[in-house]
Amino acid sequence: MAETILVVEDEISLQETLAYNLKKQGYTVHTAATGVDALKSARELKPDLILLDIMLPEMDGFEVCRTLRQEMNTPVLMLTARDDEIDRVVGLEVGADDYLTKPFSMRELMARVKAMLRRVRLIHEDAVAQSAGITPPSGGTLRFGNLEINTIRREVLFETKPLALKPKEYELLHFLSIHRGQVLTREHILEKVWGWDFIGDSRTVDVHIRWLREKIEKDPATPERIITVRGAGYRFEG
Ligand code: CA
Repeated sequence: MAETILVVEDEISLQETLAYNLKKQGYTVHTAATGVDALKSARELKPDLILLDIMLPEMDGFEVCRTLRQEMNTPVLMLTARDDEIDRVVGLEVGADDYLTKPFSMRELMARVKAMLRRVRLIHEDAVAQSAGITPPSGGTLRFGNLEINTIRREVLFETKPLALKPKEYELLHFLSIHRGQVLTREHILEKVWGWDFIGDSRTVDVHIRWLREKIEKDPATPERIITVRGAGYRFEG
């Protein structure tokens, strides 16, 4: 299911470039060129992400973001033209989730968009896991014996010591842990943790599983936490 992105930008050529590139990545894109239209579209469409320019006619991006924040939690990526706007953008005043300074490359923008949407998905999966009774209601901490995963701080403790995990190792462990007991194929893991357009193959998953095992298994050669299910994939035992 394609995620919906609302692009708010009054420079039509940039708006069109953004829309074109996001569509090419498979997203459903809607556009608005004024702050008033942006609010109207956001309320109607309930997009998954909003790209919001600051300098807009009628109502600027700051005010749009402030208003949105009172109504919805949709992540907002703000496009700023000046460095001195950044403090206001990320500050409590406006509450944007992230920003990009113009000029930016499409590659940079896509990476940011993907990361933000993934974060939303992980939060959503947390909520699903929580309703399935996997997450104890203690500040986002998943506990599996001597392994603790804090999903808010993205910290992992093994035998009470913090582990230095690479971002992908963390995301992989988190994904496995909220699907405890389920057999997950490499393809499924690749799609969920790396994203559908990741250029690589399922060996990427195997390599990261190996790294994780070295960190969270008593004996990485005979893993008890992340089990290989032959011909199928992996299963997290907890
Ligand atoms: Ca503008």
